Amino acid sequence: MMTTPTSPTRDASTDDVVRDAPAYIKAIAPYQPGKPIEEVARTHGLDPARIIKLASNENPLGMPDSARRAAVDAMAEVARYPDGNGFDLKQALAARYRVPAEWLTLGNGSNDILELVARALCRAGESIVFSEYAFAVYPLATLGVGARPIVVPSREFGHDLEAMSDAVTDDTRVMFVANPNNPTGTFATGDRVRRLLERVPSRVAVVLDEAYTEYLEPALRYDSLGWTRTFPNLIVSRTFSKAYGLAGLRVGFAVAQAPLTNLLNRVRQPFNVNVVAQAAAMAALADTAFIDRSRGLNRAGLEQLQAGFDALGLRYVPSFANFVLVEVGDAAAVNEALLKAGVIVRPVANYGLPRWLRVTVGLPAENAAFLEALAAAVRR
Ligand SMILES: *Cc1c(COP(=O)(O)O)cnc(C)c1O
Repeated sequence: MMTTPTSPTRDASTDDVVRDAPAYIKAIAPYQPGKPIEEVARTHGLDPARIIKLASNENPLGMPDSARRAAVDAMAEVARYPDGNGFDLKQALAARYRVPAEWLTLGNGSNDILELVARALCRAGESIVFSEYAFAVYPLATLGVGARPIVVPSREFGHDLEAMSDAVTDDTRVMFVANPNNPTGTFATGDRVRRLLERVPSRVAVVLDEAYTEYLEPALRYDSLGWTRTFPNLIVSRTFSKAYGLAGLRVGFAVAQAPLTNLLNRVRQPFNVNVVAQAAAMAALADTAFIDRSRGLNRAGLEQLQAGFDALGLRYVPSFANFVLVEVGDAAAVNEALLKAGVIVRPVANYGLPRWLRVTVGLPAENAAFLEALAAAVRR
């Protein structure tokens, strides 16, 4: 027979354990993810199959078939722990990007990489520099180790890289730079990023977060991975969540010189990337045709969305990624109207942008349905 607890229920919010938790943890505002399809279906009485989710910068093509087959095959292995060193995936990444395998750190998504950097390099009370309107995980990673965020005002919705290097103080340990940036979709040229690296003191780690790099047109690419040879304080992070279509499996990686990589791996959970994820990422990495298709579809989708915004007379930030930030006025009300119409996009008030929505590029029909619902929502 099961025993039931006999002691009276106590409220953890007033209990010693919560009261004595670090103030810097209690000050963290929780991350607000895009609404799940099932939740919107339930709340608005809609058929989940008809809901369009353009909220989390996922690949509208889904995962590559090559990765699906690899993932299904790898299911046979899940009774065993994964390879904690990710040998095969690191070999594949090293060959593809021409970097030593010892310079690679695998992460449970690149989100994991951002947290490893903060934990490995920053003491409580030291500072981390990032931009206004940058990725929401930077403040979380900073506050999570008790560090002090130095938030540099954005310039035309992008990073003001000159001001960011000027903002470095004696206790700065890390700088986060997203390129292209989320949620604004802005891009800094390789020349400007390289000049930043030349200005920042070598005691400050620069995390160049390139989650959307696969969407850049070839003419805009720059050799950030090659720069890791020149700059021992550079950490380039990439992900399989966006163009590679594996957001749900959680795989990202970082490239940095071996001494820095060794530090990151000391605070890494030994088995942070699971068996299925490692196998699927290897297959996806080899599937260059899928990436080319994704980039082409995205380019057309960006044009479709931005032309739609022009037609509605809405201001937007021209995007280099797989989403667009658009100014709609009362974004909370427009978002509600979109949800009722079965379209999920991302409000960005938590980024300090209460008049804007961020919409991910979908399939052509999804973009069209969104634009139609948006037209009705802003006309009201
Ligand atoms: C989506 C995103 C990431 C990473 O996501 P993971 O799924 O954790 O790899 C990292 N940086 C930026 C700027 C992003 O938009």
